[in-house]
Amino acid sequence: MTLREIIGQETAVSWLGRALAQNDVPQSLLFTGPSGVGKVSTALALAAAVACKARQGTDACGNCVECRRISENEHPDVVRIAPDGETTKIWQLWTRQGHPDGALETLPFAPVASPMRHYILERAETLNDESANSLLKALEEPPPYVRFILCASSRDSVLPTILSRCRSIPFTSVPTDQIASALMSGKSVDPETAMLLARWADGSPGRAFRAAADGAPLADRERILDIADRLSRSPAVAALRLAEELRGGGGKKSKSDSDSDDAPTRGDVGRSVDVLASWFTDLLRVAVRGPGVPLLNPGPMERAVAAAECYSADELVRCVETCFDFRHHLARNANAAIATEVLLMKLVPAGN
Ligand SMILES: [Zn+2]
Repeated sequence: MTLREIIGQETAVSWLGRALAQNDVPQSLLFTGPSGVGKVSTALALAAAVACKARQGTDACGNCVECRRISENEHPDVVRIAPDGETTKIWQLWTRQGHPDGALETLPFAPVASPMRHYILERAETLNDESANSLLKALEEPPPYVRFILCASSRDSVLPTILSRCRSIPFTSVPTDQIASALMSGKSVDPETAMLLARWADGSPGRAFRAAADGAPLADRERILDIADRLSRSPAVAALRLAEELRGGGGKKSKSDSDSDDAPTRGDVGRSVDVLASWFTDLLRVAVRGPGVPLLNPGPMERAVAAAECYSADELVRCVETCFDFRHHLARNANAAIATEVLLMKLVPAGN
């Protein structure tokens, strides 16, 4: 992974490039931004730029043994710390009885293969108070050969005491067309599929690239659209079974999932509901502007027209809003299973 390969984070990447050129990269960094936009990838690229044996300017070469070890997660001086379940726990950082060695126990020892050791906390918003407080001293005065890169969903999601000890760098959602053109040039994806994947990826280049590689999410998308289509012709009582089906598939995570900052089940349910939201947006477009209007989703226009006829335009507006509300509640820790059932019951046409 190299800094020049990071898509859509020009501000963050050029800032890091300048800091590298001046040999002035802070030792405690906080990358903030939405899930999957490239925070962890950028952290790895920064670690590579430092460890690389054949640097190109200030960036890593991407090919030498150090670079390869970093992209294969096998570099001894790049330590990735992802949450255990929903939280990053104290024993993951510091050795506690009955657990494997804490990742930060290597802090007093010099790195072995790179001038610096990088500790990457992949989801710093999941640090509990105990873990966060245990980090403060290390963040304040890291050994000269250590850099911490904390990745978090927002500045507000970490304790102020952490925030004040780190240089914070914002990451942003990547525009759909930028992801699409990266897919076309980098993965030779045809323009139509590229746009589809880019929209599905919702600002996350990593998600789009993984989808382009395995194709499964497109199949999953079709599965969800099929459920949505059946929903339009179903009685309310069928919504429970369809909710179960909706949760059942879910995009599986690949091993190469370097930006693992979306919790599996919740993230999958959330993305399924995003597909539902785009489905109802399509139906609303058809209802208001008639067949022939461009759709967000692939599939036969007749299907969208037939489904749109099952709802009134007001109902379709409410359905889109309901999907967005669901996303909001899910982010605030609603029980995913129950919430999905309630959601689908609300999405059944009133007349069914
Ligand atoms: Zn290299």
